[in-house]
Amino acid sequence: MKTVIIGAGIGGLAAALGLIRAGHQVEVYERGDRLRTAGNGVILWPGSTGILAELGIETEGFGRAMHRGELLSYNGSLLVWTDMKTISERYGHETLLVPRGGVVERLAAELPEGTIRFGRQCTGVRAAAGGAVASFSDGSEVHTDILIGADGYRSAVRETLHPDLGATFTGVATWHGISSVPSDLTDGNTVRTYFGSIGICAIHPVGGGLLHWAFEGPWKPSGTEAGSIEGPQLPQLRNWFSDWEPAVAGLLDTVTEDDVHVFPHALHKVPRWWGQGPMTLMGDAAHAIPPRAGMGANQALEDAWVLTQAIVAGKADPAGALRAYETARVRRVRRVSSSAGWMSRSNNMLLMLRIVRRAIPMNKLTHANIKGSSNYLNNHRAEPVVSAGAGPKD
Ligand SMILES: Cc1cc2nc3c(=O)[nH]c(=O)nc-3n(C[C@H](O)[C@H](O)[C@H](O)COP(=O)(O)OP(=O)(O)OC[C@H]3O[C@@H](n4cnc5c(N)ncnc54)[C@H](O)[C@@H]3O)c2cc1C
Repeated sequence: MKTVIIGAGIGGLAAALGLIRAGHQVEVYERGDRLRTAGNGVILWPGSTGILAELGIETEGFGRAMHRGELLSYNGSLLVWTDMKTISERYGHETLLVPRGGVVERLAAELPEGTIRFGRQCTGVRAAAGGAVASFSDGSEVHTDILIGADGYRSAVRETLHPDLGATFTGVATWHGISSVPSDLTDGNTVRTYFGSIGICAIHPVGGGLLHWAFEGPWKPSGTEAGSIEGPQLPQLRNWFSDWEPAVAGLLDTVTEDDVHVFPHALHKVPRWWGQGPMTLMGDAAHAIPPRAGMGANQALEDAWVLTQAIVAGKADPAGALRAYETARVRRVRRVSSSAGWMSRSNNMLLMLRIVRRAIPMNKLTHANIKGSSNYLNNHRAEPVVSAGAGPKD
């Protein structure tokens, strides 16, 4: 059986690797002419590090282990903290702080030569006798038994399957980078997130003497292309964050314009059925989630884990296997998506923390979020065939 995956991000590569390890024939089509390794630092929760271990990805010496998460007020006063070391130890899998690109590289390195076809931009998909067809901007087409859209939040596959359910921008963006800046956090195991009225600042190490830093603030799409932001960014950031505690304000004195990347936050409505027939979606193509939730890469890996097993178990009925995968994932993804939407509307988070910090222990809250969002940690696999051929609409 042949599976075509559109997109060589964390989700598409993890699914490709899982299927290949299980003996399937897989082709990955990526629009870029090489792996896209840019982007920020990501937190890999214990479910994700467990999934990477199952895929045979070596994480020894990769990034930094996270032992502690601190939420602080903009002036540096500690609001709450989480003991991530204890939570991770419960599962026997670390929580890791790593560069996004490092995960992409490690997954790709395990794939057989030629699995990824670069420079192939998918423009649409359709069902065809005995499978599906993907079309590309160079006029070529590929026929396959199973087609997976793992092509990110502006997915061409999603656009075909759910033309009315494109991503909406939340009105917030992150200005971030990974660089070698002086900080007491660089060689540590702590993630610090500061909250203020304009937005948030998150800082954590990602290994190799590098620090991930991210400033969130208000942002509106402008010009012709949503997501394009031009001109110098640092003056605006310095203006917003100059009266924050010295560790935050000082960061902006040490970075340069070239270090700053802008990532507008997008959110999807998550439909009940993600695909149709032998086609489905995964990762950001199925459910774009703003980075504040710390879930984009994690949810893509969770999708890959469930999807791989569903396809392997349901070989005789690919459509049924894909619906079973969607059924196993949708409730957890919707929960993550709705809390991410709520968090991004205002500084709800800060208000909530002030109210609940004495009532609900932070470890309990964090643990519930991590466990609730993970199929892997709950050993929640796809049940055999649910409703083959279910339509793409809610
Ligand atoms: C270059 C890049 C930088 C990122 N930076 C950040 C960041 O700083 N902060 C953050 O929170 N998240 C970032 N993300 C998103 C984050 O990686 C995802 O939320 C998460 O890893 C889930 O990954 P995914 O595989 O579902 O999607 P993605 O990581 O978006 O990967 C999708 C892949 O599909 C490819 N693709 C897209 N359209 C097509 C097409 N039509 N045909 C063929 N291939 C296509 C893309 O080039 C990409 O390689 C970034 C993604 C990319 C691609």
